[in-house]
Amino acid sequence: MSRDTDGLQLTADAYRTIQVRDGHQPEFAQAAYEVLESLEPALKRHPEYLRSGVLERLCEPERQIIFRVPWTDDTGAVRVNRGFRVEFNSALGPYKGGLRFHPSVNIGVIKFLGFEQIFKNALTGLPLGGGKGGSDFDPKGKSDAEIMRFCQSFMTELHRHLGEYTDVPAGDIGVGRREIGYLFGQYKRITNRYESGVLTGKGLNWGGSQVRTEATGYGTVYFVDQMLRARGEQIDGRRVVVSGSGNVAIYAARKVHELGGTVVAMSDSEGYVVDEEGLDIEAVRELKEDRGGRVKDYAEEHPRARFVDNGSIWDVPCAVALPCATQNELDDEAATTLVRNGVVAIGEGANMPTTPGAVKVFQDAGVLFGPGKAANAGGVATSGLEMQQNASRDSWHFDYTDTRLSQIMADIHDSVREMAEGYGAPDNYVLGANIAGFTKVADTMLDLGVI
Ligand code: GLU
Repeated sequence: MSRDTDGLQLTADAYRTIQVRDGHQPEFAQAAYEVLESLEPALKRHPEYLRSGVLERLCEPERQIIFRVPWTDDTGAVRVNRGFRVEFNSALGPYKGGLRFHPSVNIGVIKFLGFEQIFKNALTGLPLGGGKGGSDFDPKGKSDAEIMRFCQSFMTELHRHLGEYTDVPAGDIGVGRREIGYLFGQYKRITNRYESGVLTGKGLNWGGSQVRTEATGYGTVYFVDQMLRARGEQIDGRRVVVSGSGNVAIYAARKVHELGGTVVAMSDSEGYVVDEEGLDIEAVRELKEDRGGRVKDYAEEHPRARFVDNGSIWDVPCAVALPCATQNELDDEAATTLVRNGVVAIGEGANMPTTPGAVKVFQDAGVLFGPGKAANAGGVATSGLEMQQNASRDSWHFDYTDTRLSQIMADIHDSVREMAEGYGAPDNYVLGANIAGFTKVADTMLDLGVI
C-alpha cells in the first residue's frame, strides 16, 4: 500500500494495525487488505473520512462472542466444539450474516466472512448490518440426531445475543434448512416467542421465503449476465465451469442452463466431473440434496461423464468460471490456465474464492471479474426479503420474489459499475464494489457519531 498522501497513509496505518493485532488471522488480513487497497482513491477524494477513525472502526468488530458448545454423540460420549459470532458492524441495520459449520472455522475465518458481509450487505440497498458466525463442528458423517443436539446446544448459548432488531443469522457452508430448523426450534423453546425474523433460510411452512434456497446461485448468474451485457455479450451459448456442488453451485448451474449456457464441470472436495455436452443439473441436485452423494457417483451413473480424481477443475476450458466452493480455491496458476483457455468472465459465488494473485491475473488480461461481495449478494438480499415478509406476516409468490432478486442484482451491478466509472476504471468491479459498499457504511458511521 502506498503512502504519498494522508489518505493513503491512513489505509497503510489501518492495515499495519491489522498486521500487528490480527496478523495470525491470514484470511481476515487478506480480506481487509483487498478492501483497504481499493479505498485509496476514495480517501484521496474524500478527506472527511481522514480524521473520523472510520477505517479503524470498520476493521474492529463491534463485538466478538466465542463460546463452548458441548453435545452428546450417539455413543453417549460428550464432545466439545467452539462456537463463534462476530457482530462486526451495525451501522445500517441489525447484524446479518450466515453461520458456517466446518472444521476449518476459527475466529479469523469468521472475521473475514463478517468483514466481507458488511460491504456486501450495504450493496444490497437493504437495511442490514454485517456479522458472521459458526463452529468448527464437522457435520460430515454425523447422524441427524447428532446434528440436532449440536444445533440445540449452539443455540442455547447464542440465543441471548440474537433478535429481529439485534442479530439475524442464516446458513452458510454446513448450515442449511435442516440446521436452521433445529436452531429456530430451540430459540423458540428457550424464549417462548415465535420470532420468525430472528433467523433466515427457514422452511416455507414456518416463515421462510420463496427463492431463498436458490438465491445465492441465481443471483450470481444474474450478476454475471449483467457484466456480460455491459459488454454486449451474454451467457446464452457459453461453456461454463462451476466449482463446488453445494447450495450455491447447484442453483448457479441451474440458472446458467435456464439462460442457455452449458455447465460442463462441477466438483467436490474429492475431484470434479466433466461432461462436454453439459451436465444434467437436476440429476446433480437430486444426487447431492436428496441422496447426500458425491460427484464421482454422478460419473458412475452417467456414462457420458468423466470423474477426475483430485485434479483442478480450472483446467477445464470455459468462457465463464463460477467459483462456488470456498475461500482461496482459485489461485494465480489456475487463473493463468483459465485465461489461456479463453475465459471472459468470473463470478464469485463463494466468499473470497479467488486469491489476490489470481484477481490480478484476470484484471491484467481484461477478464470481467465479479467479486463475491457483489456477485453473491443475492443470498443475503433474499434473506432481507424474508425479513420483510416476516415483519409484515406475509409471504410472497416465487415469481414476485425472483423478480425482486433479479432487480436487486441489476441495481448492485449498476451501482458498482457507476462507482468504478467515476474512478476512471469502468470494468474494475472490485474497486467499484469496495468503494460503493464502504461509502454507504462510512457515511452512516459519520452520521451516527463516534460509537
Ligand atoms: N451466508 C450467506 C452469505 O455469505 C448468506 C447470509 C445471510 O443470508 O444472512 O452472504
